[in-house]
Amino acid sequence: MRDISEWSREAICRDAETREIIESNPRRAKKICLSCPVVAECLEYSLIYKEHGVWGGMTHIERIRMLRNNPTLQQLLTTEAKLLRLFEKRYSIAEDYWAAQRAAEQSA
Ligand code: SF4
Repeated sequence: MRDISEWSREAICRDAETREIIESNPRRAKKICLSCPVVAECLEYSLIYKEHGVWGGMTHIERIRMLRNNPTLQQLLTTEAKLLRLFEKRYSIAEDYWAAQRAAEQSA
């Protein structure tokens, strides 16, 4: 899964006007999402991070229903979310380590 900062650059809703439609008009939003090149990544992100509103062409209620009807999918997403949190934690620790190394090198 690519980071949101990467895939959101390809999103149809990256301009303010389309974003406004996405946030205010679920019916129109769902039609827009159908032609979005990152619809799958958007949906996956919203399922992992439990977003509200229309993401990936589905409303929050529709996503909840989909997960309730698909326990296997729910389990996979829970595992993916745990792995992402672990990765983010490890990445943060590594960043802190390298920042401390650079600071130590500069002060030496
Ligand atoms: S799928 Fe819809 S909400 Fe998601 S990025 Fe594309 S246009 Fe925006």
